[in-house]
Amino acid sequence: MHDDALIRALGYDGTIRAVVVRSTHLAQEISRRLDAGPVASVALSRAATAALMMASGLKGFEQLALKVRGDGPLGQIYAIASTDGVVRATVDAPHVEGLPEAGALAPFIGAGQLTVLRSVTEGGLTYQGVVAMSAQEIAEDLSHYYLQSAQLPTAVGLGEWLTPEGISAAGGFFVQALPGATDADLAEVEARIELLGGLGVHLEAGMTLDELLNQLLKAPRIVAEHPVRFGCNCNRERYALALSRLPASDLDALREDPSITTRCDFCGAEYVFSREDLTGLEARS
Ligand SMILES: [Zn+2]
Repeated sequence: MHDDALIRALGYDGTIRAVVVRSTHLAQEISRRLDAGPVASVALSRAATAALMMASGLKGFEQLALKVRGDGPLGQIYAIASTDGVVRATVDAPHVEGLPEAGALAPFIGAGQLTVLRSVTEGGLTYQGVVAMSAQEIAEDLSHYYLQSAQLPTAVGLGEWLTPEGISAAGGFFVQALPGATDADLAEVEARIELLGGLGVHLEAGMTLDELLNQLLKAPRIVAEHPVRFGCNCNRERYALALSRLPASDLDALREDPSITTRCDFCGAEYVFSREDLTGLEARS
């Protein structure tokens, strides 16, 4: 089994950029931690994979968040990736019924907005871009986002292989036309992407990232290569801080129980606060 990894490359005299990623293990880990059903597993896998590719090589920022908010049964899908390849993701409704027919998530996502947030540091200054989701599919709507927000024509592929046991392979690619790309080169790359077809089936069959890259670009030059993984940065102190900022009346209400348990939406970690802990927090704030 291949390890999860990401490769960035340039081709065509540096005028076309590609990012390829294998995210099988992290997609499985995210699904497992949220006890997600098939539809939510696919949505989480695609959002996490896309966030990793968007964050990689982002200069001047530390992390990127992708928020997909439609009016469908999944509710909000949210993935946060650091520029060094660590990602976490969550979804409002991890147990949505059904199966993504032919990979389509649109009936589960619905109409809404796709938001991209980039922050310089964790919790620091944030830059935000928003597009309406015309396709209600994460890959197509990201293409739309790059064209609209940065005037960068971008082909986005997000694929996975779903078995009754869950996701058995996952990954994605970005191919981006930079200023100076010629029409002839773009046509050639478009034909290559068309020829590739469904990404999930190739990943399931064992296609390596190098093979995928060589399928997408002629003579790619690798710029960077690094592992990617699931990771959550939550801790007890963060929840204590959030609780301490609640109005006194809310804290009083919480103290009616002998203890309360907070649960991280991303990794499922639970933190227990006793009545005495809550009293201590109030005194501290
Ligand atoms: Zn967590």
